[in-house]
Amino acid sequence: MTHVFPRHTAKQPPIAAGGEGCYLFDADGKRYLDASGGAAVSCLGHGDREVIDAIKGQLDRLAFAHTGFFTSEPAEKLADLLIENAPEGLDRVYLVSGGSEATEAAIKLARQYFVEKGEPGRGRLIARRQSYHGNTIGALSAGGNEWRRRQFGPLLLDVSHIDPCYEYRLRADDEGPEEYGRRAADALEEELLRVGPETVMAFMAEPVVGATAGAVPPAPGYFKWIREICDTYGILLILDEVMCGMGRTGTLFACEQDGVAPDILCIAKGLGAGYQPIGAMLCSGRIYAAIEEGSGFFQHGHTYIGHPTAAAAGHAVVSAILNRGLVGRCAEQGDKLRAALEDRFGQHAHVGDIRGRGLFLGLELVSDRGTKAPFDPERRIAARIKSAAFDAGLICYPMSGTIDGKLGDHVLLAPPFIIEDAQIGELVDKLETAIDGAL
Ligand code: PLP
Repeated sequence: MTHVFPRHTAKQPPIAAGGEGCYLFDADGKRYLDASGGAAVSCLGHGDREVIDAIKGQLDRLAFAHTGFFTSEPAEKLADLLIENAPEGLDRVYLVSGGSEATEAAIKLARQYFVEKGEPGRGRLIARRQSYHGNTIGALSAGGNEWRRRQFGPLLLDVSHIDPCYEYRLRADDEGPEEYGRRAADALEEELLRVGPETVMAFMAEPVVGATAGAVPPAPGYFKWIREICDTYGILLILDEVMCGMGRTGTLFACEQDGVAPDILCIAKGLGAGYQPIGAMLCSGRIYAAIEEGSGFFQHGHTYIGHPTAAAAGHAVVSAILNRGLVGRCAEQGDKLRAALEDRFGQHAHVGDIRGRGLFLGLELVSDRGTKAPFDPERRIAARIKSAAFDAGLICYPMSGTIDGKLGDHVLLAPPFIIEDAQIGELVDKLETAIDGAL
């Protein structure tokens, strides 16, 4: 009998007892290759000495001081390091405890920005159907994952959801990638015109879609058009890099590869690498100035914002990512993992698409490659792959549902940046066992 409230009440998970590098161990000594870093969290792997020592050192000095009274050295150092390396125009950092808190804060900051500017009519958010932005009410309202939203309808905000940029299923056969990217971006303008641009505050999107769709990158040019439309209509661009940020795609921030800078950027997961719960919302100078020159107070805050111990962990993690050349390593190992996946699954009868960037890769499973027909949802293919992989000693992140929960099963891979070539081989072998065992 346990008093822990598990995520799945029907199944008691094993006890995680230890971790080293790319592996986790349960209390019975079984070893698991952590090929999704939990959910794109453990980017440095497990047991990183430098990060652990930084946390211990901070605990010895000061565990916590409330931001209502103090700032702290680790928070200042982390904010400086992030801004030194952030996309152009971002110059303030609001440290929070995780991804949902970062996106929730971003939604509220966008709203407060327009209120402070004297445009209180702007309160609508536009987001995309194929997206996940977190589980708090604002973040869940922004997300388009029907399965996660289903029970909470009456509580959710009225957010507009447009079609995602999803080449595998939505690009027409006679359409080029850029042409499609333009058409997908035009959906934002159409929605703006439908609801009235003067009522809209922001557009929110994941540069590479993670938890809902298995590492779907944008079509070329998509985000440049999106940025242009946001500027034309005076709305803010919020990019959610909670999953795809912090080097995972082969650049520190995924949006660098799209040549755009957002007004607000959300990060988490890889920022703390699992060593402490931490997230951050980065915003532009003009947004900060509106608050500073207006009420002077961002009307949002949780007790643990700017937590010194979490910030010390974040600083050690970002320093490790930068100083150990791990962003480049992500690109290199990502190419190798992708090649290994193509080699093993490129002709697989039920793998319709292999996609992603860097060490953020996904497979889309289909019942028929030719027609792209998805599996019957009753077969619960994603859940079966997850379970077969776990039995085989592989942690990966399969999920069902892409647009409105109707289409597709996917497997997301997001291993630690330190993954070795031999472990890439082990990953692909075990994934094949799991997929073939589940189908
Ligand atoms: N945004 C994205 C893109 C995510 O993938 C997630 C989590 O998977 C979140 C936000 C929410 O983050 P958290 O689970 O840390 O609250």
